[in-house]
Amino acid sequence: MNLILLGPPGAGKGTQAKMMIDRYRIPQISTGDILRASLKERTPLGLKAKEYMDKGLLVPDEVVIDIIKTRIKEDDCRNGYILDGFPRTVAQAQALDKVLAAMNSGIDHVISIEVDKGELIKRLTGRRTCRQCGRGYHVIFDPPVNKDLCDKCQGELYQRDDDNEDTVRNRLEVYDAQTFPLIQYYREKNLVRSIDGQGGIQQIFDRIIQVLS
Ligand code: AMP
Repeated sequence: MNLILLGPPGAGKGTQAKMMIDRYRIPQISTGDILRASLKERTPLGLKAKEYMDKGLLVPDEVVIDIIKTRIKEDDCRNGYILDGFPRTVAQAQALDKVLAAMNSGIDHVISIEVDKGELIKRLTGRRTCRQCGRGYHVIFDPPVNKDLCDKCQGELYQRDDDNEDTVRNRLEVYDAQTFPLIQYYREKNLVRSIDGQGGIQQIFDRIIQVLS
């Protein structure tokens, strides 16, 4: 099953994708995670991407298209994958269609997670992640027992550079202008399954399972 998780920053795509990995036994492919990993290793790709990410802008299409082209051909993707944060522009979606057509493949479902803008800003600016194990927290909705320390591994919690309020507002504007039109793009292909992204994490996951069954 080849899936796309579509939704604004903070909609919970990454959280839901991680739960879907266990359920469907297919990998999550997050272009944001791949770019952040490249930055951590200080590769030229990561350093170039940082200039865009820090401003809340999208990195150029050709950069992420190249990443995806390589990644979906890897062995662990043979039974499918969950694309999280890609595509984000119509040009990326068209490039993906072309790559998949050449592989005799296609997208099965586009899960569109919908959340109010006010809620997104609250979620994103309160988000914290463990440097060691990657577990996510929220300072209000899901705080750690000890401030700044992971409950699971005692690793240090950090805030993503692009989760400050100004950058968050830019990311949401970029979403409206460049990514939101993708819903219509996939609607015309009859692939969109809309999900109410407000409520508990498990409740939202149950809604996803239901639309995929
Ligand atoms: P995310 O982790 O999905 O919120 O992505 C964080 C940042 O990485 C975005 O704000 C962009 O700067 C960049 N990025 C991730 N995926 C893409 C994409 N498909 N196209 C362009 N930029 C991306």
